[in-house]
Amino acid sequence: RNYQTARFLISAPKLALCPPDDGIEIAFAGRSNAGKSSAINALTQQNALARTSKTPGRTQLINFFGLENGDTLRLVDLPGYGYAKVPEAMKKEWQSHLADYLRRRSGLAGLILLMDVRHPLSDFDIQLLELADARELPVHILLTKADKLKQGPAKASLQQVKRQLAEWEDLVSVQLFSALKRQGLDQTYAVMDRWLAA
Ligand code: GDP
Repeated sequence: RNYQTARFLISAPKLALCPPDDGIEIAFAGRSNAGKSSAINALTQQNALARTSKTPGRTQLINFFGLENGDTLRLVDLPGYGYAKVPEAMKKEWQSHLADYLRRRSGLAGLILLMDVRHPLSDFDIQLLELADARELPVHILLTKADKLKQGPAKASLQQVKRQLAEWEDLVSVQLFSALKRQGLDQTYAVMDRWLAA
């Protein structure tokens, strides 16, 4: 697939306002600051498709990007979670919109879950894995900012995460990724191609 063709379609604050559920979608989720925007930009080879801004106002929307000629193959940027500076009630609301999308979106083919290689598997990461498991949605984990660790420790972190997710190995795969060094792109494309072809 040609991911460079990705272009912004629409933003929605919640499931009810998303485009019709008639496409095939790959969603991206992760804690704020995990490197989600940087990864989407690296994968689509566009500098500013997903905004790497830290303002919570932008991160709470579900952003849809269309691929290739039509608008039925889509990449979906889900709200980042765990943003420290917002009230608890607002966090809960964003999380419920995100969970709604993951539970109910039938065109969703797979979830790319981003975690900083140095801080993987937060409680909320696990909750998302459980949501995905409940509907047998495949998940591919990117351990981001792999360039921040030396090769040995990065590999150790990868193995550790794999061990912790052993019970979900049918549905969940994991890799190292660095948007900065453009490391791991081909491995991610292979997974995305498979999901969009199914
Ligand atoms: P988001 O909040 O998950 O969308 O995260 P961003 O993509 O905005 O990245 C958060 C911070 O991590 C920014 O300061 C990025 O420059 C940095 N970052 C993202 N990806 C990488 C990477 O691959 N390597 C390094 N060293 N820093 C990264």
